[in-house]
Amino acid sequence: MELLDPEAFMPEKIGAVHEGTIGWFWPGQVKPRSWKKEPERGYLKLADDNRLQLVLLDESDSFKDRHGSSALPRIITGATESGGVLLLDIVGRGSTRSFGGASASVLRYRARSLIVGVDIKEIRSANVHSIATHYFGISSWLGLSAVVENWQNHNGSNRLKSFTITADVQPEQSVMISGGRELVISAHWEVGGPEDRRTVLSPVSIACQSKSPKHLAYLRYPLLRIQDLISLAYDGFVAADDGRAVPHIDNELLLSTPSYWDSLLMATSNGDAVKDRDLPYFHCADIGGLAGLARWTSLCYRHLRAVRPIVERYRQGKASPPLRLMEVAAGIEYWVAAHRPSTQWARRMCPRRGHRCGYAWTLATHVGSPFAEWIGDVDTWAQEFWSTYNKLKHEPGYDVDERKCSLLAESALLLLAAALLNRVATNKTPSKRIFQGSAHRTWQLREALQKVLGT
Ligand SMILES: [Zn+2]
Repeated sequence: MELLDPEAFMPEKIGAVHEGTIGWFWPGQVKPRSWKKEPERGYLKLADDNRLQLVLLDESDSFKDRHGSSALPRIITGATESGGVLLLDIVGRGSTRSFGGASASVLRYRARSLIVGVDIKEIRSANVHSIATHYFGISSWLGLSAVVENWQNHNGSNRLKSFTITADVQPEQSVMISGGRELVISAHWEVGGPEDRRTVLSPVSIACQSKSPKHLAYLRYPLLRIQDLISLAYDGFVAADDGRAVPHIDNELLLSTPSYWDSLLMATSNGDAVKDRDLPYFHCADIGGLAGLARWTSLCYRHLRAVRPIVERYRQGKASPPLRLMEVAAGIEYWVAAHRPSTQWARRMCPRRGHRCGYAWTLATHVGSPFAEWIGDVDTWAQEFWSTYNKLKHEPGYDVDERKCSLLAESALLLLAAALLNRVATNKTPSKRIFQGSAHRTWQLREALQKVLGT
């Protein structure tokens, strides 16, 4: 049984660093710089753009540019008032030099990833063994919970008589993915507070680990794609609440797992946040549970051009309606074309003479009745969608109807999402969930579309 250390899910140390912490730092070009070497004094905090900003006092007295033309450091270790820290995924730097006067010369670094609570003497490389993301509020989506609640009413009334909650450690589930990486999902629980004011925390954890230490970005990639999937399910960016990481160290028997924070996983994005966490478009079980998550990450790896138009909006924000339509149409074009050499469905085109239904018809026909019943008239929809796409591409003077464009783009986006998720599920459950089971999310779009298309 795994017992959590008391600081689990309470990222005070991360919070303290975000607020700002002073310490000694060792920027290392490729490998960690030895802690026995002279450190640099500095201040680390979270900047407004959700990057970690490290400002070091430049105490050298040479006139030489301190950076020269060398590459960015891959790792910066630090001994701070908040404990040992590692900065990884360093994305920028700058400097201000002053000579004489009352200003100090400084070096600045910006990084996306932070690990806190490490013994920096043990750090062997910029690589990591595992990173884990913790989420609150998605345990039912993942189908994994460490707590079971039981409510009982008085006989024949709806007055509550008793309430019990059982928290138990759930076995971890794991699956190997490419490159020696392993995806691990688990549910934890923790109880705190005085006896008359208990707090039960039971987040789920989604982790990626490897026996041999790997570049952080390599382990982070599947976690980002799974976060995209969760955001797609809830139609809004779902930020991870907290994280843990195991850096590359000699002694693998850590007393507690260091905290991990990453701006890509945990900071709010430019996209819309989740509005409704109650009823997602689909659940993880609909795509095959953990095995489905693994298949989704491999689909993203091989066919990012098809995936991008449906998930990028949650990180970057929504584009204008014409751009959204072009992007999703290009995604459909890519997905159908990728299957033309090997499958029958991708070669079928609308048989009606003079029709220009394009690949929108092909994909709609492939997804089949859930979409057809939802949209009402596949042919009219496909003609409108594909001809708008062609006009946007080829007619510079085309007078864009933004609202119609937006409705067509959103419906095509659901179609492409359903097709990709059906593939991941290896059955048609996702398309049924999206078009038949998510009426509360899609009815407005459907009504508006039918009005615009006259169907
Ligand atoms: Zn047609």
